[in-house]
Amino acid sequence: MKHDFYLFNTAGRVKELFRAAHNEVGMYCCGPTVYNYAHIGNLRTYIFEDVLKRTLQALGYKVRHVVNITDVGHLTSDEDSGDDKMEKGAIREGKSVWDIAAFYTKRFQDDLKALNITDPTRWPKATAHIDQMISMISDLERKGFTYRTNDGIYFDTTRFPSYCDFAGLDPETLRAGERVEMGEKRAVTDFALWKFSPSDKKRQMEWESPWGVGFPGWHIECSAMSAEYLPLPIDIHCGGADHIRVHHTNEIAQSEAASGKKFVNYWVHGEFLVIDKGKMAKSGENFVTLEVLKKKGFSALSYRMFCYTAHYRNPLSFSWDSLSAAENALVNLRKAVPQQDSSEHVENDVIETILTPFFNAVCDDLNMPRAMAALWDILKNGSLSLMQKRVAAERADTILGLDLTQRAADAYTYSSDDEKRIVVYSLRELDTGVCDGIFEKVRLRRAARANKDFAGADRLRNELVNLGLTVKDLPDGTTEITFSS
Ligand SMILES: [Zn+2]
Repeated sequence: MKHDFYLFNTAGRVKELFRAAHNEVGMYCCGPTVYNYAHIGNLRTYIFEDVLKRTLQALGYKVRHVVNITDVGHLTSDEDSGDDKMEKGAIREGKSVWDIAAFYTKRFQDDLKALNITDPTRWPKATAHIDQMISMISDLERKGFTYRTNDGIYFDTTRFPSYCDFAGLDPETLRAGERVEMGEKRAVTDFALWKFSPSDKKRQMEWESPWGVGFPGWHIECSAMSAEYLPLPIDIHCGGADHIRVHHTNEIAQSEAASGKKFVNYWVHGEFLVIDKGKMAKSGENFVTLEVLKKKGFSALSYRMFCYTAHYRNPLSFSWDSLSAAENALVNLRKAVPQQDSSEHVENDVIETILTPFFNAVCDDLNMPRAMAALWDILKNGSLSLMQKRVAAERADTILGLDLTQRAADAYTYSSDDEKRIVVYSLRELDTGVCDGIFEKVRLRRAARANKDFAGADRLRNELVNLGLTVKDLPDGTTEITFSS
């Protein structure tokens, strides 16, 4: 499909026409530090990155997509101080660091699967690329960009004059920050490339290096792993907006100093998910995971749908009510997609014309709220045939990833989470208002059962029966609802 694709580039702060530098578009996305579950704010970033990748693919690009796994040495602060998140996680759970890494890597990948986020081409692990990191640090050392302190090898940011440009940092403000604890660091912006293991305690993860036993800094991981799998300049580098000021600024400094080449053409950053006026965080009440959502009876894909209610560059405010509204909207959207009817042939260029407003929105810096409205317009358009609508929805869903056509021919299947499904038979005989109530009640009943509130579950079952429905819980976890008249 031929379409101009515009992306907002953080470098330069302007929307730009996307032009690929390579036959296969290189896309690098900063991955998780695997010491805990991902919260749904983290997952919002991976959803927008997936939409970006699917859009490139729908436009005919081949994409080489790399997401790293940070399984070593990520400190609790960006400033090279604080505890090591991985070692801390291991102590918290009484497991080895390696077990912690394997466990949370798997959980993270399961979350992505549940959200219909397609696998990257590669999942490099930091611990499998220590040699590449050491080699890049050695390059930087040879070129005079490093110095040694009592606790590690540091990048000398004064040797990289454009250091402040990317994030628009103000050197004056930074100097004011120098009052904070710096150790032997020469400038507040300098950062660790290699940290020495402390002499008084044995770390679980540490390696030999030309500078002594220790472990890599967080930022060098991404520079080394992206260089290993993607040619420079990388077409697109993504991440959360919180990475702009330190992590991505440092990646640029290291990668460009080591290679002498431009690091990245397009920097694309997603905004935060906010909850109760604060940023979602890894601790406290603001820590909501996909598991928590499922326990409350929501499907993973209703969260994906919820993410489309805001542009990825705007903060999105999370509440259970708005998630519930998104779930209802998803149910209604699936209902609006007509059933398969193979008797009518639909020409490809007709579908492309029908989908033009949808693609105009997606290709305008991934404007998903507008794209969803465009899809609704198509499904409500009385002058289109059922088959045209169906094929258009299928095509749109290659980008949306919402399983829009998942219902079977004579039953409506509503996926509530991975294994358990709600099947409603003969849904078309029900009027819409009743349907919405049914899904809500089934969801609440499921949540009640999960919370062992059996009285509440029975009450909801009775309400469903009073609507003229039979409710059957199948051994595989499916809830089967049949309209009995
Ligand atoms: Zn990174």
